[in-house]
Amino acid sequence: MTDAVRPLIAGNWKMNGLKASMTEFEAMLRGAPDVLDKADLLVCPPVTLLASFASKASSFGQEGRHVVSVGAQDCHKNVSGAHTGDIAPEMLADAGATAVIVGHSERRADHGETDAVVREKALAAWRAGLTAIVCIGETQGERDAGKTLDVCGTQLQGSLPDDATSGNLIVAYEPVWAIGTGLTPTVQDVEQVHKFICDRLTERFKNEGPSIRILYGGSVKPSNARELMAVPNVNGALVGGASLKAADFLAIAAGC
Ligand code: PGA
Repeated sequence: MTDAVRPLIAGNWKMNGLKASMTEFEAMLRGAPDVLDKADLLVCPPVTLLASFASKASSFGQEGRHVVSVGAQDCHKNVSGAHTGDIAPEMLADAGATAVIVGHSERRADHGETDAVVREKALAAWRAGLTAIVCIGETQGERDAGKTLDVCGTQLQGSLPDDATSGNLIVAYEPVWAIGTGLTPTVQDVEQVHKFICDRLTERFKNEGPSIRILYGGSVKPSNARELMAVPNVNGALVGGASLKAADFLAIAAGC
């Protein structure tokens, strides 16, 4: 990791995890102090586990800081109301979340979330005091058509609210075709897209731009983490499958 921005390794558990998963999370909490010189750690479990994970994390805190922060995977844009099944960001904060992923490609695909919806959710996250982790990334077809930067540029423009800062926004570049497939872009491709994102953030958010973290996501695992994390403007990773096991998650952080 060559950049001054402190890396973040964020785990996206997706729709995985039961109460018994506390054992794995505790293993992460126990191992975290060994890797905290390399990166900050965040785990986003399913919402059913959020409060218990956050409460467990606070009992492992060092000097009042959690060694592993806890986040959520989605939020509604409203504070409360008649939205059956939805969760307001204020509720996530109340349960102990400090961040929320918005606009993951699985939500964009499964729930038809547009850039405008993602932007509203990011704003709602800020209203509740949460850091918004906004995901962008191209599909295989878009990459094959040479449209990667166009797609990422459009998603950035439409999904990010104004007034982003390094405290309230994290961008995750996740090529859709690399998620859960074992495939990753070449380091040259990752470098090109992350530089593009960094330039856009700097154009739009001026001095704040270069300090906004840009995570890479898509088939990150212990065996490729070191190489990916060394790419300029890669400030950490959003990790799906490999974040479910403490040993893998911590090994990825150790690679920063
Ligand atoms: P993966 O998922 O690490 O399992 O590819 C990443 C993500 O979807 O955030």
